[in-house]
Amino acid sequence: MKLIVITGGVLSGLGKGVASASIGHLLAQDYTLAPIKCDGYLNVDPGTMNPVEHGEVFVLDDGTEVDMDFGHYERFMKVSCSKKQSITMGRIYDEVRKKERKGDYLGKTVQLIPHVTDTIKEYVRCAGEGADITLLEIGGTVGDLENELFVEASRQLAREIGRKNTLFVHLAYVPKPGCVGEHKTKPTQQSVQLLLQRGITPDIIITRSEEPVSDSLKEKIRLFTGAQLVVSGHDLADVYDIPRNFHEQGVLDYVNEHLSLTANYDNRWQTLLEKAQNSSKTVRIGIAGKYTALEDSYASVVEALKHAAAHNNVRLEVVWVDTTNGTAQDLEGVDGVIVPGGFGARGIEGKIDIIRHCRERSVPYLGICYGMQLAVVEFARNVCGLAGAHSTEVDPKTIHPVVDILPEQLEVTEKGGTMRLGAWEATLTEGIVSELYGSQTVSERHRHRYEINPAYHDTLTEHGLVLSGMHGKLAEFIELPEHPFFVATQAHPELKSTLDTPAPLFMGLVAAASKR
Ligand code: GLN
Repeated sequence: MKLIVITGGVLSGLGKGVASASIGHLLAQDYTLAPIKCDGYLNVDPGTMNPVEHGEVFVLDDGTEVDMDFGHYERFMKVSCSKKQSITMGRIYDEVRKKERKGDYLGKTVQLIPHVTDTIKEYVRCAGEGADITLLEIGGTVGDLENELFVEASRQLAREIGRKNTLFVHLAYVPKPGCVGEHKTKPTQQSVQLLLQRGITPDIIITRSEEPVSDSLKEKIRLFTGAQLVVSGHDLADVYDIPRNFHEQGVLDYVNEHLSLTANYDNRWQTLLEKAQNSSKTVRIGIAGKYTALEDSYASVVEALKHAAAHNNVRLEVVWVDTTNGTAQDLEGVDGVIVPGGFGARGIEGKIDIIRHCRERSVPYLGICYGMQLAVVEFARNVCGLAGAHSTEVDPKTIHPVVDILPEQLEVTEKGGTMRLGAWEATLTEGIVSELYGSQTVSERHRHRYEINPAYHDTLTEHGLVLSGMHGKLAEFIELPEHPFFVATQAHPELKSTLDTPAPLFMGLVAAASKR
């Protein structure tokens, strides 16, 4: 087993997930990776957690709801993750308590060490099985009470598999206070002290800062901490540029040497990014979702747009469109529009207005999940003449429930279990969607409760809406043939988009938008 453990220090929210993913990316060309995220909270999974508190809920093929770090892992490391790679303390405790109730501990006193740490190690080994390298990211910062057992378990793992097979990376903040005017390394030194107290010497330290940290400061940190390599992880304009920055400071060479690997650097991203950056054309895409106040909730949508822009050789400008107080004027100068996924009634009529505007004025439109449901509501009302048509999510008493919960879904009652989650296949009929995918069956990830009501399929199609992708009686994709680009899907294709393989519908939207 080869293990890379990534811990954080000083502050959380420094981008440890992206840093982990970037290290993984450097190795992913030649090795298979199993990224694992350990989170100290007691929720069994983040599916029921408020996205405003936690950023986007990312969904895996197997339907597991995880945090947005998995988005970085999958986008950077050419992997498709599964449930076992998300280890929350809630899940670990659940397991230990079940074992205790079954009598598996044979009357022993059940303790944090060894029983909880053993369970963590077991989960890590199991999640890493079959991969060349296990990449273990521990949430929060070293010293957090709730993450102590993950840190201890990783120390034990290193002892078991050997220090030569384990690489510890520590990411810590290096501030540059205005009153001092220079980078200060003390917080980093202190957070490494915490790590040392726990029996872990970091091999690599990544300093997080706005501006590059000088070589002399890097050397100073090396001296004070015992780390072999100190890397400046300063802010960059584009996250996809981080692997290059790491590589230029010797990360790959050091990892290769320490873990006895022979991974090669792949500069494909660099070339792609440079091409897009040098492009003279900018495409402005409006995302109708400003009211959420947290753009992180749509992280994958923005990433998918970046991927599509890079492959279309254009620069991307994202415009957040207000749907609560906004007007169609906010769409002026916007080349294409996305109504992304969402829940509840807030800003709904504004979104429906935006969709109408796109449909009537030939503005390229991509509807994602809620954005498809609302496109159907708009079409039902304004084209099919079904006044008062709505989704029962917003108006449970609507006379035309064109979007509704199907009876099958009502039967599932366990919390977090009422949604259609994870990968579902759709069969496509000839049209824009199938042309973009270049295939007749596609699989995309889902996270929703409501469906286009099959009782209205005929009315919708008679009026010109094409249901261009189906899963049985469930509508998965819709399109308007006469429009330059009016496509929507019940799925979340943004979740599988990467810079190497951009999501086809996003490619379609950006291509149509750049023709305007
Ligand atoms: N609120 C809608 C539903 O539950 C759409 C969900 C979404 O956009 N992810 O079906």
